[in-house]
Amino acid sequence: MTTQAAVTDGTREATGTPFLSVRDLHVHFSTDDGVVKAVDGLSFDVEAGRTLGIVGESGSGKSVTNLTVLGLHDRRRTAIEGEIVLDGTELLTAPERELERLRGNKMAMIFQDALASLSPYHTVGVQIAETYRKHTGASRREARARAVEMLRRVGIPQPEVRVDDYPHQFSGGMRQRAMIAMALVCDPRLLIADEPTTALDVTVQAQIMDLLRELQDEYGTAIVFITHDLGVISQMADDVLVMYAGRCVERGSRAEVLTDPQHPYTLGLLGSMPSLRGPVDVPLAPIPGTPPSLLDPPPGCPFHPRCAFAEQVPGGRCAGERPVLNLTAGRGAACHLTAGQRREFFADYTTARVD
Ligand code: SF4
Repeated sequence: MTTQAAVTDGTREATGTPFLSVRDLHVHFSTDDGVVKAVDGLSFDVEAGRTLGIVGESGSGKSVTNLTVLGLHDRRRTAIEGEIVLDGTELLTAPERELERLRGNKMAMIFQDALASLSPYHTVGVQIAETYRKHTGASRREARARAVEMLRRVGIPQPEVRVDDYPHQFSGGMRQRAMIAMALVCDPRLLIADEPTTALDVTVQAQIMDLLRELQDEYGTAIVFITHDLGVISQMADDVLVMYAGRCVERGSRAEVLTDPQHPYTLGLLGSMPSLRGPVDVPLAPIPGTPPSLLDPPPGCPFHPRCAFAEQVPGGRCAGERPVLNLTAGRGAACHLTAGQRREFFADYTTARVD
């Protein structure tokens, strides 16, 4: 099997100063069936002006992580441990009023489903303007002017007219742009984008990604981009974090992760992704099995029931011992395979390229 990921270079240079820092985050929910370990010891940093791509299947903990960063989790049913620091402010211990102030002002989120996120009862302009007024105290007139400016900024034609439209009068791509305008109206310095382009056709998808990059260049925004799509990661991310069963299983720069994966799960994701540039007769190889239940995750390496290489590790370690994520200069994978084994076993799989 051959996997190919075309990676457009152009990642931004790291400064080493995180704007968002997450340390040893655990997020557990109580349910009638038991405790769901949605996030289990996750750490990462995002710098201003850079994009971290978080990739993984549904239920891997990507979205829960980011709802927790924004303080949008259900506090009654959620037990959280760890540290989340945004520009010097510890978010997990911050009062709700402070979080509310920070949401919109310093951090904002773009969701997958714009229709569900926008109120059908208010015009697009009113929704953008009210967000602006709430955080800045601007007058109605100023806020409306700002809404028009933001709609223009995100490429809505005739924004001074469309500002009075309701969401149902916008196309899917325009609604997504309107939601981006609402998220960015207060110039947040952290933007969390949760599958923001999944529901859109590829042309609009590309336009939205261009727009986010432009806005990032302009405002120096730190972006966390959550997706299951490595094609999107290859276009958007500077750094990549691969999640499985609530844990980070691999981290590195975009080029490192996509062209030289170190974890069998990342390899599996790459193998199940079609390539427009490689040979057309290469069959896709979906990862066998399904993601584990987070109510009762498998012992040892949570990926071991699906891993093609588990038998290669002697002593049954994969089923019995949890692999640790050791990072060197931000690069590493949580896997018991040695570097030599990876070179040997993965050689046929990784012919991805940077171009
Ligand atoms: Fe596969 Fe074992 Fe590595 Fe887990 S630790 S990914 S089961 S080889």
